[in-house]
Amino acid sequence: MKVVVVGAGVMGHGIAEVASLAGYEVTMVDVSDDFLAKGLEKIRWSLEKFVEKKRVTKEQADAALRRIKTSTNLADAVKDADLVIEAVPENISIKREIFATVSRNAPQHALLATNTSTLPISEIAAATDRPDKVVGMHFFNPPPMMPLLEIIAGIKTSRETIQQAVEIGKKMGKTVVLCRKDVPGFIVNRILMPLMNYACTLVKDGIYSVVEIDSALKYRAGLPMGIFELADYTGIDVIHFASKSIQEREPQAPEPCPLFKELFERGHYGMKSGKGFYQYAGGSYERPSIPREAGEKVDVVSVLAPAINSAAWIVRNDVASVEDVETAVKLGLGWPKGVFEMADEFGLDAVHQSLQKAAERYGTFYSPDPMITELVKSGKLGQKTGQGFHSYVKAEQSYSEIIFERRPPIARIVLNRPHRLNTITPKMIQELTDVLMKVWNDGEIRVVVIRGAGERAFSAGADVTAFTEVKTKADAERFLRDFQEVMNIIEAMPKPVIAGIDGFALGGGCELIQSCDIRIATDRSEFGQPEINLGLIPGAGGTQRLPRLVGIAKALELELLGTRITAEEAFRIGLVNKVVKPEKLEEELAAIAEKLAAQPPLAVRAVKQLILMAREAPMSKGLAAERMFFADLIFTKDFMEGISAFFAKRKPEFKGE
Ligand code: NAD
Repeated sequence: MKVVVVGAGVMGHGIAEVASLAGYEVTMVDVSDDFLAKGLEKIRWSLEKFVEKKRVTKEQADAALRRIKTSTNLADAVKDADLVIEAVPENISIKREIFATVSRNAPQHALLATNTSTLPISEIAAATDRPDKVVGMHFFNPPPMMPLLEIIAGIKTSRETIQQAVEIGKKMGKTVVLCRKDVPGFIVNRILMPLMNYACTLVKDGIYSVVEIDSALKYRAGLPMGIFELADYTGIDVIHFASKSIQEREPQAPEPCPLFKELFERGHYGMKSGKGFYQYAGGSYERPSIPREAGEKVDVVSVLAPAINSAAWIVRNDVASVEDVETAVKLGLGWPKGVFEMADEFGLDAVHQSLQKAAERYGTFYSPDPMITELVKSGKLGQKTGQGFHSYVKAEQSYSEIIFERRPPIARIVLNRPHRLNTITPKMIQELTDVLMKVWNDGEIRVVVIRGAGERAFSAGADVTAFTEVKTKADAERFLRDFQEVMNIIEAMPKPVIAGIDGFALGGGCELIQSCDIRIATDRSEFGQPEINLGLIPGAGGTQRLPRLVGIAKALELELLGTRITAEEAFRIGLVNKVVKPEKLEEELAAIAEKLAAQPPLAVRAVKQLILMAREAPMSKGLAAERMFFADLIFTKDFMEGISAFFAKRKPEFKGE
């Protein structure tokens, strides 16, 4: 399949890289060879990074680069295209002109996609002779790194086109969310822009300061950046034009907050110009200083309520499903939870009240969406009532930060915060403790497999932003005690626990695998205890288990230098049992789990206990315990079964009796 990407700028070169990595033949088109050369250079750089990080092999990167051609002749380049993705500047006349040219020259079957963030897909489609084949493919910046892709249907886009675009998006490795209607902002920006605008209005009116709001959103709501920090990072100019464009299409939306316009007119574009809502010293990437305590008095619900309201509007108007909205904010904005999950946690009555207040003050745009009003009226107030946007009926069985799959004799636990590299939060620890105890007591489960969701990490450690409750030394100790307890449970559990590692196992993630009985890693995984780089030390057993596993010298080296090691090195020093190719990990885990599940449970328990005992007890005590366990085992039914199966040359069936 041949893909033509029009525009080799910020987005275009990234999209070309993603398409080529997916195996498509790519032609990148721009107005000058100079722009194309710059685009190619950036692709080369990015591919090199991927090779360094072992996300692709050198051969794959070279092949991807070879698949990208360039051209300054659009009409010619699209002649044999199957898909055209346009990523030229956000200007409707330029885009329409391009689509007209493409429509005249591309084969009839070709799919025509635009990466616009704010313009109507339908208006762009109207410049072609085939609006049914025009679709929005909204990538996020930078496309090779950001996992989300919004697919947007224009008024005339056909079902088949949508389906094809979704399939291509998936093939490019993206998580696709579907925006069924061509509404301004699509999903992510339709939720983000009102939040930004409202927060800005609160600052303009002196209700809160920039730092207060950012601190509250960052440290109390757990967002990856404050909203003004994000505006500065994105560029005030980009925000200014985007909010203007959205408002032009939707006159009932409130005027963009004048603070944005003011900053824009003064040329204060944020990080890139050295000043925006914050000051920047200059340099490629800086994070403004936002003190944790600054946000204490902010009513977080009221700040986030407009975002929740927009999300409800999206679902009620059948623009996207609840699940897609949740995925979109998690992957597009890096939120730790879905916007509806947050609303359900706040309580929809509180959200409703905040919106009513906002509407009284700032107009009906902020009036609670009928969907929220309806939920509140019927007593569906969120988590506390068991039902809100989501259902919490099976609250004791459903976890939000892990996934538990019980398929006797095997239980799988997946650390499920892929958007945050499966970093560990107090909530995840609680959920892990709960599920591990369940598994411990579950007579039908014989083996536990622990994995991380996604392809980037088993777990990159503790999530520092989630430690909002850690205010005193006692809090810190409590957190660590809970965390250490998870490891203790894994070790003491009378069933084998296997860790399947693909990607980072760092800090707490590395400590977690140390408590497992068997560790299988992919060759692109990386291990380390980097706590020292932050002025800390491992706190979940790393100083105790690691030396016992890999020896004192290696443990000292790893924990003093804080450097990462490859899977190969981890294998060499005994931190992992086996290294496999990523595509073989599941197969290998299944094979080992199956083998372990068929072993005699009482003997498995004995081996586990005795070998862990070898770590600390004197040998004489260990040998005494070994004799006792052995003597017990001789009188078990399992031993009888083992012996008779051995003589009958059949597979034994151990029952743990
Ligand atoms: P950009 O200015 O970095 O790149 C645009 C490129 O298009 C430039 O290289 C320019 O030379 C080229 N171009 C201009 N006219 C052309 C023509 N007639 N034919 C071929 N090439 C032409 O812009 P960008 O940030 O990459 O944005 C591109 C699109 O992606 C916009 O629609 C934007 O809204 C959207 N978008 C941007 C972001 C972002 O964060 N930058 C994110 C999502 C979507």
